[in-house]
Amino acid sequence: MGFFTDTSVCIGCKACEVACKEWNLVPEDGLDFTAMSFDNSGGLGADTWRHVAFIEQRAPIGVQETGVGRPEGAPDPVDLGMPSFEPPGASADGDATGEFRWLMSSDVCKHCTHAACLDVCPTGSLFRTEYGTVVVQEDICNGCGYCVPACPYGVIGQREDDGRVFKCTLCYDRLGAGMEPACAKACPTDSIQFGDLDELRERADERLRGLHEAGVGSAQLYGRDPGDGVGGDGAFFLLLDEPEVYGLPPDPVVTTRDLPSMWRHAAVAAGALLAGITATFLGRRR
Ligand code: SF4
Ligand code: SF4
Repeated sequence: MGFFTDTSVCIGCKACEVACKEWNLVPEDGLDFTAMSFDNSGGLGADTWRHVAFIEQRAPIGVQETGVGRPEGAPDPVDLGMPSFEPPGASADGDATGEFRWLMSSDVCKHCTHAACLDVCPTGSLFRTEYGTVVVQEDICNGCGYCVPACPYGVIGQREDDGRVFKCTLCYDRLGAGMEPACAKACPTDSIQFGDLDELRERADERLRGLHEAGVGSAQLYGRDPGDGVGGDGAFFLLLDEPEVYGLPPDPVVTTRDLPSMWRHAAVAAGALLAGITATFLGRRR
């Protein structure tokens, strides 16, 4: 099971952030002015399990008015007067809105197929659930923090008081009760969709095809490919620009990928050292 987040229909209402905090009793972590548009949570962390990013771009607004999904015969979309970099009417062609668009995206733990956080956890606090998701058990976490640098997406954070880590559980308790995760339930536009991963991938492919046919060539899926560096994400996205624009790594790899070969090399080096010491010792005795 997993999430498909279609950022092309996100309206930035933050209902997902609020629903996540309410259901999971995630403490308030400061409602600061981040100077990043309407983003006031800044990024994912121990007390922000869903983060809605607002990215301001100097780009034609037209791509937001493609009419994708509008029923035939529906009236043209109304210009709601998006903010402008110029005073109204100042541009040469009399365009009062200028070229400006927001990209909005609700980020979350990716519930990687190959999750490095799981590999490095010494206590078994992080575990793979029967739904294929990755969950951290707060009563077993010892606060060592090994998983924090291991995550290729910078998702996990430690709480300041005792150092224990927290992150999205994909509402493990709700799944057990046959309910969908709180964020998906609260999202008014179905930007966050929850379900069987194969079904979600099919739905995402179809949506991508629709957007490309409508001329939104920059639309792309992120984390959908089971052949990528983390074996595909259990929470994947449809983006309207490059991943870097959203603060996502373009080619994530499981950070523990090289551990087996490193251990092999270390074992060979240790064996060679031991053989050298033994030979020296035996040579002296003769
Ligand atoms: S995104 Fe990070 S925290 Fe989430 S499963 Fe992958 S490695 Fe673990
Ligand atoms: S609830 Fe849905 S539309 Fe609102 S911010 Fe979250 S993802 Fe976007």
